[in-house]
Amino acid sequence: VRVTRTIPDLRAALAPLRSGSLGLVPTMGAFHDGHLSLLAAARTRCDAVAVSIFVNPLQFEAADDLATYPRDLTRDLGLAEDAGADVAFAPSVEEMYPQGHATRVVPGRVARVFEGAARPGHFEGVCTVVAKLFNLVAPTVAFFGQKDAQQVTVIRSMVADLSFDVAVEVCPTVRERDGLARSSRNVLLDAAERARAPALYRALRAGRSVLDAGGSPEAAARAMSDVVEDEAGIQPDYAAAVSPEDFGAPRPGAPVLLIVAARIGRVRLIDNILWDRA
Ligand code: AMP
Repeated sequence: VRVTRTIPDLRAALAPLRSGSLGLVPTMGAFHDGHLSLLAAARTRCDAVAVSIFVNPLQFEAADDLATYPRDLTRDLGLAEDAGADVAFAPSVEEMYPQGHATRVVPGRVARVFEGAARPGHFEGVCTVVAKLFNLVAPTVAFFGQKDAQQVTVIRSMVADLSFDVAVEVCPTVRERDGLARSSRNVLLDAAERARAPALYRALRAGRSVLDAGGSPEAAARAMSDVVEDEAGIQPDYAAAVSPEDFGAPRPGAPVLLIVAARIGRVRLIDNILWDRA
């Protein structure tokens, strides 16, 4: 993998790769199997693969969350190499946001509910960095994880609204054996917290059972909330059944996205599953 740290280096590394399709996997590093599944999908689908590794300060609203976010660039670059990535882009904050950088990409209403309500400014930071990466890399296909379902919806609407010429491909959520969705933040859980964390996935499955049995979205949301309270001993930040299109009320007969977020110890975890009648 060719490692680039600056924008001119990145552009030079990508120039010879532009004859075929180019996949981009945007990440914040601290790779786990979720990231690797995106890299594998990109390797399968595209002629060339670029991965970005950048802990984007614009999308963190809490200073301690940014300070404690796990980082291991050396390990990540080894894994990117093993995954067959052609180019890795690991810029400094100053490279991405030099003095005077002021322009922001402001997403619409879908970015202000649920995760957007819990983390004001988060999706603005995500859209700004992803728009910048799309301009720098000009990928044919960009790969994102279903794990961050609201991010997928926000990015899709940004791509449509700003006419980015990029296909968005969404890869399934990779989980631990006990159902916990892989996340870079999982390493911040202590043993007792780690034992409570699978409650989120069990809550989603409980919600799915309610919908399978013909229950309403509200009943599914209540069941999810109950499981988080019973099994993790905390109130979820939210537990809801929404439309994956806009995170509003589910449409009758259409797929339903079950979403849950909870803070376990210092770590805020999110998860979701898509429910389809079929
Ligand atoms: P992050 O480094 O956490 O910003 O994640 C980079 C990309 O990996 C995003 O598109 C995430 O949605 C995706 N991702 C994170 N966790 C998982 C997972 N458990 N399964 C699949 N994709 C994931």
